[in-house]
Amino acid sequence: MAVISFDHLYRYDELTTALHSLAAQFPTPLTVESVGKSYEGRDIWLATVTNTNTGCHSEKPAIWADANIHSIEHTGSLAALYLIDKLVHGYGTDPLITKALDSRTFYVMPRVNPDGAELVLADSPQFLRSSVRKWPRTDDQPGLVEHDIDGDGRLLTMRVPDSNGPWKVSDRDPRLLVARTPNDIGDGPFYRLLYEGIIRDYDGMKFATAPERRSLDLNRQFPAGWRVHGEQFGAGPFPLSEPETRTLAEALIARTNVCCYFAYHTFSAVLLRPFDDRPDTEFPTVDLKMYNALGARGAEITGYRHVGVYNDFRYDPKDVITGGADTWVYDHLGVFGWTTEFWSPLPHAGITDYHLVDWFADHPIEQDIQLLAYSDNELGGTGFVDWYPFDHPQLGAIEIGGWDTLRFWCNPPDHLLEAVVKPHADWQIYCALSAPQLRHRETKVDRLSETTWRVRVAIENCGWLPTNVTQRAIDKKIAIGVEATISTPTGISAVSGTTRIDLGQLQGHSRVTTMISDFGGAASDETPDVGVAEWVVEGDADAEILVTVRHPKAGLLRIPVTLG
Ligand SMILES: [Zn+2]
Repeated sequence: MAVISFDHLYRYDELTTALHSLAAQFPTPLTVESVGKSYEGRDIWLATVTNTNTGCHSEKPAIWADANIHSIEHTGSLAALYLIDKLVHGYGTDPLITKALDSRTFYVMPRVNPDGAELVLADSPQFLRSSVRKWPRTDDQPGLVEHDIDGDGRLLTMRVPDSNGPWKVSDRDPRLLVARTPNDIGDGPFYRLLYEGIIRDYDGMKFATAPERRSLDLNRQFPAGWRVHGEQFGAGPFPLSEPETRTLAEALIARTNVCCYFAYHTFSAVLLRPFDDRPDTEFPTVDLKMYNALGARGAEITGYRHVGVYNDFRYDPKDVITGGADTWVYDHLGVFGWTTEFWSPLPHAGITDYHLVDWFADHPIEQDIQLLAYSDNELGGTGFVDWYPFDHPQLGAIEIGGWDTLRFWCNPPDHLLEAVVKPHADWQIYCALSAPQLRHRETKVDRLSETTWRVRVAIENCGWLPTNVTQRAIDKKIAIGVEATISTPTGISAVSGTTRIDLGQLQGHSRVTTMISDFGGAASDETPDVGVAEWVVEGDADAEILVTVRHPKAGLLRIPVTLG
């Protein structure tokens, strides 16, 4: 019984029902819990997916994916649901998923910001950036406020005739407006373009956009490099000041087994990685290499480019963005953090050779024509709504129309949703299987005297990443080593060595790339993936002892050892 369909954007109640129905249907791999409440009191759900018959979720390496911290980016929620759905349905039939759920854990938070997401899909929508909390001011400010003024459930653009307007109608397509040039000296018609809305406290002559509408941006308030609102718009009064970001951070930090983190956003069709505020030269070499390797695989699976934010995704070349979750998890938690920006209409319209953010600053009008043609021919004209007359109570005879922000730019049209999110689940499964994982290699017990034994237990990291995951974790002194602990029953005692032995970090398969090493030398593998714990114990033959080996990010092993 399918409980989730991937053909429309979900409001909160439907999302909640879908998650709980799926958990009721698949109780073994899936649990859903509330880990906190939003500003307006909605539960923030966290799904935990793992085969609990092979171990508790916290005793396995994990990945984390969250979505919809930005209100209008509901495709991320669908992608999160798709990942959960694929995992629970694929267990037992798909070998990679079966392996992943037997040996790894997936934590998925499908909607970080349920209040804002709900308002975007409300019957009378508002396209606020993030949290609904009014900040830095709580009073309503004068100015233009987004409002579905004709009550059709859409927020479009108002085209207002104005002799000093900066836009004129294009001669290529009468729907398209182009910037007025110095030669356009006639009477027009010229236009102003405004968000669909009303002007609060309008004096009939002059107005600005009311400032409180988008003031909090929850993805600008994570602690790494946090800057005050005046320097980083939307950062809030202090890092993690909001219930949504605090909930996310506390839930993530409590799950010390997380090795890779994904924040699902829209749009741009790109896989973004840190740093957001520093060049790539700030990376330890090995971390950049791992990022590029994981990103290259992601690009292969999803068809999206993988880029660093500082290098390739800055809206203003003289400024940086700070307070994003991906840089925080890398810089402070030593975890590989990514931001997936789902969807872009550009490739669908045949526009493939463009630079991500520069395109919005300027692009040839031919590409606008291509986008219009895509909307007309493939989407029945829903991407760009042709201008229709409306009698505005404050501005008089105007027109409403233009690009549909919600369902053309910020999210795919409904019929493309599933195809857009689908490949990303495979990349997440790939990254989960990249996590380090402890495995018992061998145990040797040597008899030193009648009742004295040397016990040696060898452990290996059978994962791809090293147990420390990143070099950053070591540099920041937050990487904990592999610990082997011997517990001896009554009558047996360890006579040498401490009960608990630190085996340090174990390398993974990612340490090798090609057979030809530096200067043409042949590859020569040592055993940096293996750790050996050794104890001398006193006890009778056939006595049983237990060796426990754990690493916060590489799992937990319980190894029974028999003397003799
Ligand atoms: Zn976003």
